Amino acid sequence: GTTVVWLRDDLRVADNPALYEAARRGGQTAVLFVFDESSDIRPLGGAARWWMHYSLQSLDAQLREIGGRLILRRGVAVDVVKQLIVETGAKAVLWNRRYGLHERNADSGLKDWSRDNGIDAQSFQANLLFEPWQVQTGQGENYKVFTPFWRACLAQPEPREPVPAPSSLKAVKMAGTEKSDHLDTWALLPTSPDWAGGLRSEWTPGEPGAHRRLTEFFDERLIGYSEGRERPSQESTSRLSPHLRFGEVSPFQIWHAARTSRTVGIDDEIQTFGAEIGWREFCWHLLYHNPRLATESYRREFDAFAWEHDTAEEVRAWCRGRTGYPMVDAGMRQLWETGWMHNRVRMITASFLTKNLLVDWRAGEQWFWDTLVDADAANNPANWQWVAGSGADAAPYFRIFNPVTQSIKFDSAGRYLRRFLPELTGLDDAAIHRPWTDSKRAPDYPEPIVDLAESRQRALAAYAKVKNRG
Ligand code: FAD
Repeated sequence: GTTVVWLRDDLRVADNPALYEAARRGGQTAVLFVFDESSDIRPLGGAARWWMHYSLQSLDAQLREIGGRLILRRGVAVDVVKQLIVETGAKAVLWNRRYGLHERNADSGLKDWSRDNGIDAQSFQANLLFEPWQVQTGQGENYKVFTPFWRACLAQPEPREPVPAPSSLKAVKMAGTEKSDHLDTWALLPTSPDWAGGLRSEWTPGEPGAHRRLTEFFDERLIGYSEGRERPSQESTSRLSPHLRFGEVSPFQIWHAARTSRTVGIDDEIQTFGAEIGWREFCWHLLYHNPRLATESYRREFDAFAWEHDTAEEVRAWCRGRTGYPMVDAGMRQLWETGWMHNRVRMITASFLTKNLLVDWRAGEQWFWDTLVDADAANNPANWQWVAGSGADAAPYFRIFNPVTQSIKFDSAGRYLRRFLPELTGLDDAAIHRPWTDSKRAPDYPEPIVDLAESRQRALAAYAKVKNRG
């Protein structure tokens, strides 16, 4: 019989248990991706749409190499899947699990429908090393703090080995005319203005590009990772985040690569890197147990927090990288130009928005959601809440990053700043962190939009009003 494989955040052929199982069963396979902008699932931001276009193109090429092809359709995803099952007379539908509330509801709806219609529906663990319901405290509760969470994960049985890509697939034969949309009709790419030039030169979406990054990282960059990962001017981190977001590489493949690259002297680096993968697992654990992570402060006392409301102008300056604080502005421009921002700078820019500008973290989360190629439904809100102080296991609210001190500490020679702020290239290494001290040499660069000391006091006062309500 025919099997439908419904792909979502798992755009890969290797270590894809649903696809692997379909191939193992033999028979014909219909590999489907649905572009769903009609259900309750959070619609993708602009940068992620750009990524998805190329990722799907690449996936189709990968599938064709093994005799398959990708069927593209648009609509309410579950309805589209049911329709394809009916059309192809499929007897089974397989997918890899996802963890958002609306996503889970859709999937369990399809499971019920399948049962009622005599279709075999099966789901697989593919996108997280540890299922969110498998890791629990001694009291049988979910975790709220990272360190014990990750310790509990590491005490679980070792994650499984990756499964290989199927060696061949038999693509389903469908009667009639064109049964797949043309990708171009989805209009995922920007046209005018075309803001994606910087993204194109930075990234290669798709499984082969993901594996090049993976290999390059483990071969060349893992040594020195713990130190280098704090320096935004260095390319020390893996840059796997968008590939992980779209499932072009799986955490099992990363785990396995880390285990097998255990050469002498890099155990610490592997542990540090492993803990970052652990943070991703933790964010998804949080989202699974708190489906409204992107819309509600985890710590409810923040519901009463006095965010500033009349901030449209400050928010615009922040988005455009024109706050007058070089480390904030360099980060925001890196984000706009390349669709990615260094982790340290994400923390600095988020702290600046939520504390110095006193803007609700949700506004920043939404801008990141729209501009990051790795915009992730769990990692993005969890990290925003972590920085804002409203999250589970959050940094304490009074930890307000000073963007000047951070800049001097992590980019002392100003290499990162100069890369993204051409207006500042005339300043020396001392003045570049405080351009207002030598503004003659940076005539095109804005004055600071807030005073750091004053805005810090204002933030602390606003926090003092809510802190005892928790
Ligand atoms: P590496 O250092 O090579 O880490 C490897 C992988 O570990 C990453 O690809 C990522 O999957 C995971 N990881 C690392 N740090 C974190 C973290 N703090 N939380 C969760 N997972 C982590 N990451 C996203 O993937 N998507 C987002 O939308 C996102 N939004 C963020 C928003 C803010 C305000 C902050 C402070 C952080 C955010 N992060 C997000 C986390 C982190 O900044 C990125 O994962 C990281 O910079 C990606 O670069 P890399 O792949 O080179 O990281």
